[in-house]
Amino acid sequence: MLKIRIKVRTTLHLQGVIVSDACPYGCGCSETVHHLAFSCPRAGAVWHAFGYPVSANYEVQDLFTSVKELIPSAWLRIWDTMVVSILWNLWQARNRKVFDNVLFIVPMVVRQCQDTFKLWFFRMKEIEKKAARV
Ligand SMILES: [Zn+2]
Repeated sequence: MLKIRIKVRTTLHLQGVIVSDACPYGCGCSETVHHLAFSCPRAGAVWHAFGYPVSANYEVQDLFTSVKELIPSAWLRIWDTMVVSILWNLWQARNRKVFDNVLFIVPMVVRQCQDTFKLWFFRMKEIEKKAARV
């Protein structure tokens, strides 16, 4: 379902909306949800910058299930928020590239992930805020 709803280039190509499913960053791969989130070198660099145990073998839903068993317990209360913040900003950066031809600069995307997380911090429960400060 996630793969159909997110309008990456492979989905749009299958629907006949666009002629090419190539990753907009020119890495030579098809742009799938998995590619956008993990296997594109730019996505991998963002995950790496945060030091998260994310592998190109994962699917997005794994981040909310099996990966949680691998992360430090101090991260558990805020893990979902951190993951969504990163995925959201990868999607935003991709859209800026596709629609406005804005370059994907890893430190800038990392900073945007951090800013999103700080903004969302204010909606967290107190116990989550305590975990975020660790
Ligand atoms: Zn790519």
